[in-house]
Amino acid sequence: MANKKYDPATTAITAGRDDSGALAPSLTSSTTWSSAGLEESHRQAKAIHETKNYSRYANPTVEAFEHAIAELEHTQAALAFASGMGAMSSVVLALCSTGDHIVAQRNCYAGTLAFLNGPCARLGIDVTFVDGRNAQEFADAVRPGKTMLVIAETPSNPRLDLVDLAVLGAIKGPITVVDSTIATPLGQRPHDHGVSLALHSATKGIAGHNDATIGVIAGDADLIGDIWSYSVLHGATASPFDAMNALRGVRTLDARLARQCESAQILAEWLSEQKNVTAVHYPGLKSHPQHDLAKKQMNYLGLVLSFEIAGGKAAATKLLGALKLIRPAVTFGGPESLISHSASSTHNSVDPDTKAKIGVTDSLLRLSVGLEACVDIQRDLATALAQSN
Ligand SMILES: *Cc1c(COP(=O)(O)O)cnc(C)c1O
Repeated sequence: MANKKYDPATTAITAGRDDSGALAPSLTSSTTWSSAGLEESHRQAKAIHETKNYSRYANPTVEAFEHAIAELEHTQAALAFASGMGAMSSVVLALCSTGDHIVAQRNCYAGTLAFLNGPCARLGIDVTFVDGRNAQEFADAVRPGKTMLVIAETPSNPRLDLVDLAVLGAIKGPITVVDSTIATPLGQRPHDHGVSLALHSATKGIAGHNDATIGVIAGDADLIGDIWSYSVLHGATASPFDAMNALRGVRTLDARLARQCESAQILAEWLSEQKNVTAVHYPGLKSHPQHDLAKKQMNYLGLVLSFEIAGGKAAATKLLGALKLIRPAVTFGGPESLISHSASSTHNSVDPDTKAKIGVTDSLLRLSVGLEACVDIQRDLATALAQSN
């Protein structure tokens, strides 16, 4: 499926387009299709991954989005879900049974952590957590014959730690999964490094307008087919309307990333010089411990940064109250600049010991850099920082 003839920015404009002549994605809302009779219904029942049957199995609008993601990720196939968590939970439950083992990154999205610590533990799926910054830890934790899945997230949410994709991709035996949400398909391509599956919450940068909840995975056709067989029973099916918005988002992804990542770089450098900011975490900074790895494996260094404020939670509370343009809200990748205090919002459910290990302190704030003029975002931060000590 990979079209290596064009630059990815160009592929993003054409990917997933059908041959109907329509340039914009068409919305097919029908949940079912009539058939010619009993024989035809029987044929459809045996070939359920074809589009003209029933929408939980396949839908043309959702398929157009899946084709686009597969093309951008350089994979044979992709599969969309009702959300990023729908993708993560379906992958785990499709591939793991009681008694199986998973190696997973500790410093990751709190929903993934909660799923691995909650439902997986309850079902008797054993999870070993490792620090993704040293990718060799994943390989060392694999138990041959027992480990079904290795789950990584790079850049990680919210501290922007990186995982070396080449080291991860070299792991043989278990299926390797990279939650690549923060990077987006234009920021990095895990499959090019040998990773089995790239996973995205397309709710974030891909859809990009805070108007669609959707997830997607991309990988080899056989593996995607196996996961599809489970996913039609799991039922975390992507909505055609959200798939349409997500595919519309793909069209402008490169332009948005170019602008937002440029602003993120400027703001990360500027924040590093502010006296009541004690640390800035952004892969584009020379001070980031994995800056060289970022330049090696990423095409865009991201629109998310996090920083630590002197004065802990009290100062963070004042800062969030003083900001006028940047809105306190979870999620990232949309047009609006958003800020969140990870310890009390996205990572509220994480136990104190894990929070300490992954560096989610009371001083940590995550900033999603939006499409506003960078100077306005910077002024808003400057004014609020001055009021927060
Ligand atoms: C938001 C997010 C998810 C979950 O996605 P939803 O669409 O909210 O279900 C998973 N991983 C990462 C890194 C995320 O930021």
